[in-house]
Amino acid sequence: MTPRDVLETYWGYKEFRPLQEEIIRAALEDRDVLALLPTGGGKSVCFQVPVLMKEGLALVVTPLIALMKDQVQNLADRGIKALAIHAGMSRHEVDLTLNNAAYGDFKFLYVSPERLNTRLFRSYLDVLPISTIVVDEAHCISQWGYDFRPDYLRIGELRQLVDVPVIALTATATPRVARDIMDKLGFREPLLLKTGFERPNLSYIVRRAEDKLGQLLNICRSVPGSGIVYMRHRARCEEIASFLKSEGVVASYYHAGLSTPARAERQAQWKSGEIPVMVCTNAFGMGIDKSDVRFVVHMDLPESIEAYFQEAGRAGRDGQRSYAVLLWNDADVRRLRQIEKTSFPSLEYIEDIYQKLHQFYQVPYETGEGRQLKFDLEEFCRHFGLQRPPVHYALKYLERTDHLSFSEDVDIDTKVKITVDRNALYDIDLPEKGMAEVLELLMRSYPGIFSFALGVDEKWFSGKLGISVPALRQLLYKLSLEHVINYIPADRSSVIQLHHDRIRPGNLALSPQTYGMLHDTWLERAEAVIDYAGEEDTCRSRFLVSYFGQEETADCGTCDVCRAGRNRPATDSVEKALRAFVDAKGGHYTLEELNAFLADPANGLSRSALDLLRRLIDDGTVPGPAD
Ligand SMILES: [Zn+2]
Repeated sequence: MTPRDVLETYWGYKEFRPLQEEIIRAALEDRDVLALLPTGGGKSVCFQVPVLMKEGLALVVTPLIALMKDQVQNLADRGIKALAIHAGMSRHEVDLTLNNAAYGDFKFLYVSPERLNTRLFRSYLDVLPISTIVVDEAHCISQWGYDFRPDYLRIGELRQLVDVPVIALTATATPRVARDIMDKLGFREPLLLKTGFERPNLSYIVRRAEDKLGQLLNICRSVPGSGIVYMRHRARCEEIASFLKSEGVVASYYHAGLSTPARAERQAQWKSGEIPVMVCTNAFGMGIDKSDVRFVVHMDLPESIEAYFQEAGRAGRDGQRSYAVLLWNDADVRRLRQIEKTSFPSLEYIEDIYQKLHQFYQVPYETGEGRQLKFDLEEFCRHFGLQRPPVHYALKYLERTDHLSFSEDVDIDTKVKITVDRNALYDIDLPEKGMAEVLELLMRSYPGIFSFALGVDEKWFSGKLGISVPALRQLLYKLSLEHVINYIPADRSSVIQLHHDRIRPGNLALSPQTYGMLHDTWLERAEAVIDYAGEEDTCRSRFLVSYFGQEETADCGTCDVCRAGRNRPATDSVEKALRAFVDAKGGHYTLEELNAFLADPANGLSRSALDLLRRLIDDGTVPGPAD
């Protein structure tokens, strides 16, 4: 089969998107490849197609647990065997999954990076038939990247043990980060494939505004279709959504603190267009494939251009005119500087949090390596009388210096163990027929369930039984009341995994050098965001693409800078458009016609083009409107 045949057989597409074929070709030639693909550029196909054409299993490293589950499901729907290992799984579940991966003829094993270093994982390395290592969100391996995760450095170590080609993928990397990725992953030969960063149908608009709500309302009312409104704080999402609703805009809100069903429901309602406007934190949007998003508004300054570019880039994937709007004012700049203070608590404070964490779980000195702790940040802060944000960042820093892994808001599957002997089961009289059916399916689907508590995928399981998830939960609950099973309901929680035994006070290595470096690069990124917002005469698109190291750039003609004619070349294009309009009317046009022309977004002009027209009329370049 050729790559195209594979694409058609499994995905039903006839054509690859730009760059996909090149990446696949490089992978099939067993070359290491780093691909820079914009969000929505069809990243998965680039590694899934070549892996399907090879013998063996791809190890896919990704930090995004929710996406991991989606991808495994998507592959299963196409009849491709895939597995996942992530935070929140018990040691036994991990063991079972690795065993399946080794002997079960699977094509993909998704792994979150902190798993790569565990003894259990290493013990399977010799028997896993790994054909390819795929590194998703590859920028996480670079200390210069905006989302560095030291666990990613394990991938470099892994390559020393498993000599197979690497496919690394990311949506955003500056040239420095791209070089660093290839270096850290031990590329045998550098190979960077990328598309241009321009998004011709996306207009970047930056507005300095005191009345952000008023501006937001205007956007929601004047741009028809779906939109995303990004906020930094969870609590504000709900507030802004109800404000919009009170003004007649159909809106909802979303953040990682909502329950799993609530998030799934809202996501589906937004995706179908039933609720066009979603007010949310950056937890929303990842992995959602919706091509007709007409606008993305940022109500707060983002922390990096990388994050901004990815989030804004969710608009207009269908190629239709769309808007990426950033609303800001001086208070935001002050707030961003404030965030710097909370994001970098002192090293003493961080060490203190390290000790308190172990105290909280009563982990004695010189023990604890590999332990997984279900972590409730609120409760921890309440217990010690601490503020939430600095504790959060202290844990993040402990993660960056490799003392622990901190996975936030992880969905933990329902766990079930059958506590009755297999033979004795047939003698039990169950009060409901449904209970017996659940039990039967549990036994058939999970062979180890008499010995261990196993994760049960409620959606899949209830689908098999033809009942709803709540009905399934009810039956499981009843079975536990009959003392037939142990039932630990699905949960959502943060999970901390300890990387080493507890260290005595004063001995924790916190690498002041790393601290200084992270602090400096944080400041650099924040300054770039402030520059972007405050920039008055460089085309927005040109600013963004040159941030990512693209040297050849052109003015977009549709951003706020270009439209206001503050940069010369774009003024030319607006002038051309206006002259074409006047010519088309044979030199005779009314104010009404002119207004209609300016208001039509298809022409990519703003009201500010009026100023230019006035100049042209004054110059005598074009005739004025008829009365
Ligand atoms: Zn522009």
